[in-house]
Amino acid sequence: MSTSKPHIYFLPMMAPGHMIPMIDIARKFSRHGAKSTIITTSSNASQFSQTIQRDEANGFPISISLIEFPCRQAGLPDGCENLSSTTTTEMSLNFLKALDLLQQPVEQILAEGRPDCIIVGAFFWWTTAIASNLKIPRIAFYGTGFFPMCIFRCLRDHRPHEKVASDSEEFLLSCLPNELTVSRRQIPEHFKQDDDKNPLTELTRKVLAADEAGCGIIVNTFYELEPAYADHYRKMIGNKAWHIGPVSLINETNEDKTHRGQEANQDCLSWLGSKKPNSVVYVCFGSMSIFQKPQLHEIAGALESSGQEFIWVVGKKTKEEESIDHLPEGFEERTKGRGLIIRGWAPQVQILDHEAVGGFVTHCGWNSLLEGVAAGVPMVTWPLSAEQFFNEKLVAEILRTGIPVGAEEWAKRTDERVAIGCERIEKAVVELMVGEEGERIRNRARNLGDVAKRAVQEGGSSYTDFNCLMEEIRMFHSS
Ligand code: UDP
Repeated sequence: MSTSKPHIYFLPMMAPGHMIPMIDIARKFSRHGAKSTIITTSSNASQFSQTIQRDEANGFPISISLIEFPCRQAGLPDGCENLSSTTTTEMSLNFLKALDLLQQPVEQILAEGRPDCIIVGAFFWWTTAIASNLKIPRIAFYGTGFFPMCIFRCLRDHRPHEKVASDSEEFLLSCLPNELTVSRRQIPEHFKQDDDKNPLTELTRKVLAADEAGCGIIVNTFYELEPAYADHYRKMIGNKAWHIGPVSLINETNEDKTHRGQEANQDCLSWLGSKKPNSVVYVCFGSMSIFQKPQLHEIAGALESSGQEFIWVVGKKTKEEESIDHLPEGFEERTKGRGLIIRGWAPQVQILDHEAVGGFVTHCGWNSLLEGVAAGVPMVTWPLSAEQFFNEKLVAEILRTGIPVGAEEWAKRTDERVAIGCERIEKAVVELMVGEEGERIRNRARNLGDVAKRAVQEGGSSYTDFNCLMEEIRMFHSS
């Protein structure tokens, strides 16, 4: 039997919500008996290379292998190497096409590196053929949880959304462990179009076929968060799935947390240090969301009149808008001392972990959801697109650790979105931060946070599943 470490190559999808947890996963493997190599492009690597160098210097076997991103061939401007840099639907579709052009360089790296296993973003469907040629396992990572994946499967296999008369009519997802209803307004756009007209249909088919041929998936979750759905997914798909999260908990030092995703400004942490426990609401909509001026004004109005202390991460802007500030005039002066605006990248995990933070207004991206859960922070749920409306249901209806702001309609683009009025935002924030119901929700969130932390400790559900996966990879390595 071989005593050397198994070598795993990671190919993360180039989008913050996928790369951030996958880098955590690669680091987790290198700390627990494997050698990790991350394949990515140089501009993406620059976001986490410092962390990797620090891990290496601390004796963990981890490195980066660079490939070029085919911007020009895919009709993208130079430097557009991450999904978060795309600003139109056409650019996003070109970006997805560019991912397919990475096949040849990735194949070459893997043929030379001869890894024992590859762990890849699910969009890289073509890695199945490479893994099969190299006779190694291919494990996929979707970046989301069992709960939304079960809903997607239910929609795809049973198509209940085609049996209702209008977009607003609620329908039952009858194939799931709980009685859950959704409307067509809450499900991704591509489900509502004819399959043939939809550019994502073909890609989805290839991704699912790759999964069926692959060895299984890794899920950034813990069993206790969604036990019925973890079981349901495994039974329904019949494929292997390992839950190993919350992976953000691998970042134990302040240095690790500061460099997670992008270099974050630390000023907000000393500001938080001057606040009372549970007094500040943190408002952030992930890495991709752009809000237009009317919505920003509604949020500003709500935060101002709520009387609550807040940190608000004002989302990124489109290239054309970079020099314009859309916040209402005088807003920052009027809320000085009580509110803090972050215009760049926030140290989200550090903020959520801070005892002064008592609530999180979130778009329900899976990473944000899990980071909020791990920190024991209750939420105001405000889904925008992707699978976020489903994630909201997990938080608000099943875990009961959040209050919905009342978002009704899935919309990919900011200009297609109807603004949520300031009264609704204020009501949800105040209900969460003050009052009895808020206190009940906070207690549940705190307990769930303790369960999340225990899951990754010795003997916990994620700890155990990670070891099972590691054992399978080791067996493959030594056979
Ligand atoms: N994030 C951060 N600072 C920011 C914005 C986002 O650290 O200012 C991180 C956040 O902690 C999470 C990721 O970016 O890990 C966003 O992923 P999520 O799935 O929540 O949403 P997405 O950006 O994919 O919509």
